[in-house]
Amino acid sequence: MGVLELKNKLLSEAAYYVFKVEDLNNPELEKERLNTCESNSKYCFDNIERRCKICTCYVDAKVRLKTNRKSITDSTVVVTHCPLGKWKIEVGSDETDKEIANHYYNLDNKKTI
Ligand code: SF4
Repeated sequence: MGVLELKNKLLSEAAYYVFKVEDLNNPELEKERLNTCESNSKYCFDNIERRCKICTCYVDAKVRLKTNRKSITDSTVVVTHCPLGKWKIEVGSDETDKEIANHYYNLDNKKTI
């Protein structure tokens, strides 16, 4: 493992423990979320730092969570979701988490997707 890869892995693990409220505990869905991120690498996924370009989260940590703290300075608990509503809500489902993303955009008075 290279130095950059090790640095990103350590930061990702730190983020997991800082933001984690509840684990997803669904390896299949975690894999599906990760596949979605990785297949959008030209658009919203930074494959070198393995971070989401939209919310800046470390994706390897984020996909493992069911709920998380909103930010370092805001401990509001939110349902972990893709900020572009691209994640499937269940394995094999066509439904994505767009409604969840829009719920939080509405709460923050931001433009919905
Ligand atoms: S926008 Fe969604 S699909 Fe894209 S990297 Fe972020 S979490 Fe993954």
